[in-house]
Amino acid sequence: MKGFEYSCPTKIVCGEGSLAKIADELRDQGIAKPLVMTDQGLVQLHVADHLFNELMAANVPYEVYDNVPPDSSMDVVNEVAALYTDKGCDGFIALGGGSVIDTTKGAAASLSAEGVDFATLQGSEILQGSLPPLVAIPTTAGTGSEVTLVAVVADTEKHVKLSFTSYKLVPHVAILDPVLTQSLPPKLTATTGMDALTHAVEAYTSIQKNPVSDSLARSAITLIADNLFTACADGKNADARTSLALASLMAGASFSNAMVGIVHAIGHSLGGLAHIPHGQAMMLLLPHCVDYNISQGFHKGLYGELLRDLDEACYIASDPDNRDTVFARRLHEMNERFHAEYGVPVKLRDLGVEPEQFEEIAKQARYDGAALYNDSEITIDVAMGILNAAY
Ligand code: NAD
Repeated sequence: MKGFEYSCPTKIVCGEGSLAKIADELRDQGIAKPLVMTDQGLVQLHVADHLFNELMAANVPYEVYDNVPPDSSMDVVNEVAALYTDKGCDGFIALGGGSVIDTTKGAAASLSAEGVDFATLQGSEILQGSLPPLVAIPTTAGTGSEVTLVAVVADTEKHVKLSFTSYKLVPHVAILDPVLTQSLPPKLTATTGMDALTHAVEAYTSIQKNPVSDSLARSAITLIADNLFTACADGKNADARTSLALASLMAGASFSNAMVGIVHAIGHSLGGLAHIPHGQAMMLLLPHCVDYNISQGFHKGLYGELLRDLDEACYIASDPDNRDTVFARRLHEMNERFHAEYGVPVKLRDLGVEPEQFEEIAKQARYDGAALYNDSEITIDVAMGILNAAY
């Protein structure tokens, strides 16, 4: 067996009612006055109230920044870092989806490198100083940011999504409570769930895959296959919501070690230049990237192995030589079902992305960090071919 390294130091607190443990977790992390990070959507839906009520009940003093936009920017990161210092906070709670958690990671990184231009901290293991403690409480089940070493922050002037990777960015605690995802509407449930599925599929086919990341990826795929449509149809189903939160975390822990590839390279570019939400971009591109990889003979047999986790009956019924292709077809069928039942867009044309934009998206995809972990070069022609197929 090839040698490998695996790391996931985050403490995981999972299950119905687990949010009630927040005061204990803050105490364990030595946080006396947290800055709570969240967004306006979560405030208006009263999702954030679950956390505020727990903090008040435990007499924990806290400050709030509740204005994180989707795909937030360097300006927001700098504003949050300044607020943290002004208010004398000593740790963060990030309550939200990937945008809130990544903005919090960005602010923590910025605080650790005071006076340094935030954009220069991009890349791998650049961060040197120690970061404030971070308790991540995801309200979507997709990014896995609560356990990953990644922070994605947009440069809104250059229309690029910047990637920061460092083990110092891994949150200290992740609290997964299904009460926080029950308000997700079916479309967001579907797109974020397919984001988690993409993490698992790309981690399983990455050049840096290893037995631990593989097993997390495969378990995540089974949890998604068994629960994603249930959660879309019955948002209050606590078992399905817990399973998806866990799947997202496991897929995150998997890709945080194995890394991701072509779907993310093109998807980040699509997000930066055409402002397509991350999960939506992943969902739309995944089946077409798998089609492309199969057509080139890449990852031979690996998709067939994942078919067993996605749909065991289909795996047993299919010809062993044809399982990679059957896996790709099942991904297309999932998207078609989300489209038919919940109106989720599954074509670029339905999102207003036009062929004239493809070349620029393709050019930028080559420079995305995820392209480094893809086992073949993502040329402009390759990316254009995939974008055309997804149109
Ligand atoms: P998001 O955080 O951008 O949130 C999208 C919308 O969903 C927001 O309007 C938010 O208010 C709403 N929302 C969140 N929780 C809700 C709930 N429980 N009920 C109702 N509405 C809710 O979405 P996301 O997909 O979680 O995060 C996307 C971001 O994460 C992108 O910037 C992406 O690049 C990044 N990302 C990071 C990593 C990582 O490892 N750090 C991995 C993948 C993606």
